[in-house]
Amino acid sequence: VPALDVAAVRGDFPILARQIHGRPLVYLDNAATSQTPRQVIEAFDDYYGRCNANIHRGLHTLADEATAAFEGTRETVRTFLGAAESREIVFTRGTTEAINLVANAWGRANLEPGDEVLVSRLEHHSNIVPWQLLARELGFTIKVIPVDERGVLDLEAYRALFTERTRLVAANHVSNAFGTVNPVREMATVAHDHGALILVDGAQAVPHQAVDVRRIDADFYAFSGHKVYGPTGVGVLYGKAELLEAMPPWQGGGEMIATVSFEHDTTFAAIPHKFEAGTPAIAEVIALGVALDWVGRIGIDAISAWEARLLEHASRRVSRIEGLRILGTAPDKAGVLSFVVDGAHAQDIGLLIDQLGVAIRTGHHCAQPLLHHFGVEATCRASFAAYNTLEEVDIFADALERVIGMVR
Ligand code: PMP
Repeated sequence: VPALDVAAVRGDFPILARQIHGRPLVYLDNAATSQTPRQVIEAFDDYYGRCNANIHRGLHTLADEATAAFEGTRETVRTFLGAAESREIVFTRGTTEAINLVANAWGRANLEPGDEVLVSRLEHHSNIVPWQLLARELGFTIKVIPVDERGVLDLEAYRALFTERTRLVAANHVSNAFGTVNPVREMATVAHDHGALILVDGAQAVPHQAVDVRRIDADFYAFSGHKVYGPTGVGVLYGKAELLEAMPPWQGGGEMIATVSFEHDTTFAAIPHKFEAGTPAIAEVIALGVALDWVGRIGIDAISAWEARLLEHASRRVSRIEGLRILGTAPDKAGVLSFVVDGAHAQDIGLLIDQLGVAIRTGHHCAQPLLHHFGVEATCRASFAAYNTLEEVDIFADALERVIGMVR
């Protein structure tokens, strides 16, 4: 793997020049949202300054150009995820909307009372609550895939959860709260052996490692633009073509129809357009394509290797702190370091460390069932991206020691 030129990478991010409370910004909240390279920022200028138009139905030049750029991004995403066809790529508002799409389109058509959906204990609320809302209405059962004390999914228990009524597995590829990398390929095989589908929440995987949806054999795979150096307001649902084709639409409106009539049945557009009702976030989609191109230029394997070094260094530095406990000690982790400190509230640490220019996240990370299982309400979480440096990790660890000294 070629090494990552972190100075060059940093040069692409104007926000990294900011001072926070008179100190250089050390941004370690990348799992919540990553920062944006200037190429992506410029994509908005270019779009609104040069070819802003509604897509697909226009016959004029601007509409043609906007459509080409928008559909070009679909192809970029296809390549990025290793999907077979670009019609398997549906643009959404983000991971949350992608999962809600699967719940409402596939779930409503396929789940009945007595059916079972397996949801992992490691999930973000966005891969729990849509299933709970639907289960209330349709009367299927949610079963939880347990984790061990390291925050690793228990695969034996996972296998044992399957019955002839299991229809779907909902699991993330990488946990946003602990950084655990889940064996989704193996989990998919087990699901398929039992005639169930698997939906993989890839929000925290896509920024940190190469993803190949066909190798995983994921039936559905979701991610968000803003966690992979792209803008907010856009995300992706990958779905196998035959599944998407069989699913009813979930939102109605323009773009998603073939013909509309009061006299005959309204008919729907082919996939992926059937699932893209209304004017999409055109500029955001195009800018997401620019972000993925940027990742491609840096190289996802180089990013992965660099972040592994950052995580290792950070883990080593904070483990020296007395009374600090790392949550999530899986052998295979990506991007995230979560911890609690005896005698110091996460919230206080977060506020005070910000005074020293360091941005980390504190709270439940939208994973309350996981944190409750570990007996905590909140953790501190440092999370890494391509532009972070080993020096920043040291600044963070020094600042953390100082802050803990202040609150204890
Ligand atoms: N899943 C995971 C694992 C996440 O980390 C997040 C964002 N924290 C989401 C889903 C939700 O993503 P979004 O808010 O962009 O829809």
